This record gives sequence, C-alpha cells and structure tokens, in this order.
Amino acid sequence: MNQPTQRKPLEQSTISIILPVYNEVAVLRTLCRQVADSLATTGCQIEVIFINDGSTDGSAELLNQQLAYEDSRIRVLHLSRNYGHQEALHAGLSHATGDAIIVMDSDMQDAPGCLVDFVAQWQQGFDVVYAIREKRKEGLIKRSLFLAFYRLLRLVATTEIPRDAGNFGLIGRCVLDNILSMGEYDRYYAGLRSWVGFRQTGVVVERLARHDLQPRVSFLGLCSLAKTALFSFSSAPLGLFYAIAAISLLVFSSFT
Ligand code: UDP
Ligand code: MG
Repeated sequence: MNQPTQRKPLEQSTISIILPVYNEVAVLRTLCRQVADSLATTGCQIEVIFINDGSTDGSAELLNQQLAYEDSRIRVLHLSRNYGHQEALHAGLSHATGDAIIVMDSDMQDAPGCLVDFVAQWQQGFDVVYAIREKRKEGLIKRSLFLAFYRLLRLVATTEIPRDAGNFGLIGRCVLDNILSMGEYDRYYAGLRSWVGFRQTGVVVERLARHDLQPRVSFLGLCSLAKTALFSFSSAPLGLFYAIAAISLLVFSSFT
C-alpha cells in the first residue's frame, strides 16, 4: 500500500464539494446550509460547485441570483442542456480547485452530516473515502436490482470495486488528477475511483430518502450506467460474445 500522504493543516486546506443538479430547486437552499454547517466544524475553506445540468424548474435562477450571490464560496456551472449525471459530475470535477474533493447528490439522499467523517479519514492519510450505503430507502425492486448489480460487478470486475459504494465520497487531489488524466468518455465514476488505487477506505452511511419521489436518473439511465460499469471493468461481456460467436460458427459449419 502507498505511504500516507502528509496533509496540510485543515485551516490551510480547501475542500471542493461537487453537486450535480437536475431540477432540485426545492432543496438547494437547505442543502447549501447543511453542507456549509457540516464542514464549518472542520475549519477548512470550502468551494461549493453546483453543476446545473439543464434544469427547467428554476434551479438555475435560484443558484445564480440567490445562493451564489449571497455566498462567494458557491460557484455554478451551467451546462448547455441536460447531459446526464455522470457528465455533469465530470464537468464539476474538471473545475474543482480543492486539496480534497467531495462528490455528492443534490437530492438530500447523501447526508451532509457524513462529510466531517470523510474529512477525518482524509486527514488520517486516506486518499479515497467512499460511502458504503446502508438502509436504502428505494422500493424493493430497485433495491434488489442494485444488490444484483453490485454482486455481479464484484464477481466479474478485474478491479476490486467496493459493494454498495456509489459516487458519494471524498477523493484527494492526486486521485482527481489521475481520474481527469484518463480521458475516459463513457464514465462510471465509482469504478474509476477504485481503479486509480492510492489509499482507500469506506465509511458506512445511511442512504436517506429522496426529497421527492421522482428520481432524475431514469431506469434506462441506470441500466446504461450498469452496462458502462460492466463493460469498462470486466472482459466477461466480451468473452460471452466470443463464446456465442464460436458456438454459432460450430453450429453453422456442422450444417454445411
Ligand atoms: N442529475 C443530474 N443530471 C441528470 C440526472 C440527475 O445532474 O440527468 C443529478 C440529480 O439532480 C441528483 C443526482 O444527479 O443530484 C442523482 O440523481 P438521482 O437522485 O435521480 O439518482 P439516484 O439517487 O436515483 O441514483
Ligand atoms: Mg438520488
């Protein structure tokens, strides 16, 4: 394992918080306050980067005209249309200037209270601190699909990707620089974060309920992300296609 990196004192460190937003106007003010309150106890500087992923519900106006206006630590990126969660996240990561970077959702499912635990682990020398999500509040079918996906991914992936760990977590600057230098186009952030290595640890967190009942990532979007994860971190799907091709060839040639 890598040697722990020497950290600057927290008072001299900046933490970037990356928050992709697609139509979350109802909770943005509360979210901002809770994130700032939680990190205030650490004494570090913060920059909060919202990525407005083509919202149409007034999120853009609230972010620009009120939240960023009232607090200079808040920055807002506006994407030209709705690109999707992973793309919005990547745009935010590319603009982060902090010594450590926290990635979280804007729908209140990722508890701001956990941020101090991430920072504490980072101070202990870990470069990646990921949230292990417990007590998910989604319905039975969605929870079962998540369970099946994480088990399948662990079974076939050539990189060890922790179970039940999504985007929520902290990465150090060195990890971010590595992820950005990869130039991946079809991204599964949680997988890339594992792949780069460094010192990694998990913190168990309770996955809260969404503030409304309308997930912004569609079911098809989740399936597409699962496909990206499985194809990017395993050669099993390709092996399966080779096997099908070989069997087809055998069957075909036995009839000719
Ligand atoms: N999101 C986004 N662009 C999209 C869909 C979602 O920026 O096209 C944001 C959304 O506002 C939230 C986060 O990505 O902050 C996760 O979305 P969601 O809660 O729908 O995902 P889930 O928790 O169901 O995985
Ligand atoms: Mg959510």
